[in-house]
Amino acid sequence: MSNRRNLLALGLHGISEGTCVGCMKATDTALRFRGSPEWLIAGLTALAVPCDVAITMVAHDPGITRRPDGRYDLSVQVCAACVRESGTSFPAPAVVVIGAELPTIAQAPGLQP
Ligand SMILES: [Zn+2]
Repeated sequence: MSNRRNLLALGLHGISEGTCVGCMKATDTALRFRGSPEWLIAGLTALAVPCDVAITMVAHDPGITRRPDGRYDLSVQVCAACVRESGTSFPAPAVVVIGAELPTIAQAPGLQP
């Protein structure tokens, strides 16, 4: 509930600068989801983002980029604790460094409509 309120207070831009999408605490680490919009939404919900908020984020986040292969990239600031507690096999998030690749949870190419 508090996550939802906080995210919505951000003006639907998705992720606040420097805060974890799961616990809203300050973090300098992030992961990237790469796939169909549904894949991005599933990834966010795996990090405890409520489904309706995840849908809104994917629909409105200006940071989402469409790749030539049709998949979308969404970088998500998230702390290592929230990734650990997600119960997923997601890689540990990495410190955001301009120009460096983030650990990426990618949908296989060709699976999206
Ligand atoms: Zn967190």
